[in-house]
Amino acid sequence: MADVIRDRLASDQYLCRLVPALGISLGRLIAICRAHGIRYSNGWPTDAQIRAAVHAVTVEGLTVRAAAKRAGMSRSAVHRYVTARRRSVVARSGAFQPLSVSAYRCPRHGLVTHSPCVACESLAARGEIAA
Ligand SMILES: [Zn+2]
Repeated sequence: MADVIRDRLASDQYLCRLVPALGISLGRLIAICRAHGIRYSNGWPTDAQIRAAVHAVTVEGLTVRAAAKRAGMSRSAVHRYVTARRRSVVARSGAFQPLSVSAYRCPRHGLVTHSPCVACESLAARGEIAA
């Protein structure tokens, strides 16, 4: 069965498309692939893929989309690993409190990713608006 799956995957990279042709469940197909080390699109990424994708985003500055394409992973998977990596760095950084937060909408400046809004802080420091 593993050889049949390998042959089929050579022409069609998505495992789910083999389900109707082979007549076995997707879960069973995934189990066979894992047992025989068969790689397929959107499967579990290898450690090397994860390292490459996280490095591409955090060190090289690639977008998640570009890193995902290069590492052969989904964008959401790359985003998940990059976020986990950033959280682990922050968790190990002691008293440091990161300024980055989830994007929120400043009433004056729109979508911003630092809290408090850097532009508002600057204007307040110059005395142009009330803090
Ligand atoms: Zn603002």
